[in-house]
Amino acid sequence: MRTALVTGAGGGIGSAIAMRLASDGYTVIFHSHTKDCGKPAASVHGIAVRADLSDASQVENMVSEILAQVGAVDILVNNAGISVSGLLTDIDPQTRRRLYDVNLLAPIELTRLLLPSMVRRKSGCIVNISSMWGQVGASCEVDYSAAKAGLIGFTKALAQEVAPSGIRVNCVAPGVIRTPMLDCYDAETLASLAEETPLGRLGTPEDIAGSVSFLCSEQAGFMTGQILGVNGGFVI
Ligand code: NAD
Repeated sequence: MRTALVTGAGGGIGSAIAMRLASDGYTVIFHSHTKDCGKPAASVHGIAVRADLSDASQVENMVSEILAQVGAVDILVNNAGISVSGLLTDIDPQTRRRLYDVNLLAPIELTRLLLPSMVRRKSGCIVNISSMWGQVGASCEVDYSAAKAGLIGFTKALAQEVAPSGIRVNCVAPGVIRTPMLDCYDAETLASLAEETPLGRLGTPEDIAGSVSFLCSEQAGFMTGQILGVNGGFVI
């Protein structure tokens, strides 16, 4: 049985990705932070683990626990993330550091820890969840945009480094997706974001899960280093 680790599997997009990969036949490891993913994981014969990804020692302990349980991870989906809105000059250094720790450094560290077992088996697939703001930048989300752009650069560079080892690295850049991350917006703002999206609606977590499923499949076997925009035409 092949295994997939999905970070942030307690969140909107992460839970849809985890359930989709389970239905694709993977043993899914549901990573969460504050939420208990025991029930959804058990419902698909998966495994639940917890860690604060802003804490490097928790990341390391989680990987040791996972490798002890399943031996190797075939698919890593770096999905967990946080957003912070406000003018660059208004974000305090601690908040900024945490954003980069969770959104950029944790995916890199998780990858570093899981790569050796992928290289040994000459196979593996990594999907990083970035954002369309990482592609084009967003005012009042400068750090978020920069961290997500970093994830795009990481994807492109790592894809070249590990391709000879049979490992594919790709990225999904979602548009506006209806999840708890958007709870800070009122109904009017959400409606205008839907209107601004050429396809005329907000994306769903399942829209993103489908693209991750595709990138992990044999159908995408010749794709690596790619940034797949799933944004309803918002950024073309
Ligand atoms: P969400 O808030 O529902 O989920 C985020 C997940 O990240 C949660 O499970 C949360 O527990 C986890 N997380 C946050 N801080 C953590 C920490 N310190 N340690 C471990 N886990 C932590 O949001 P979502 O919309 O499902 O976001 C999933 C990913 O998609 C994020 O990387 C986000 O940046 C990206 N994204 C979302 C949108 C959108 O419109 N919703 C658009 C583009 C990109």
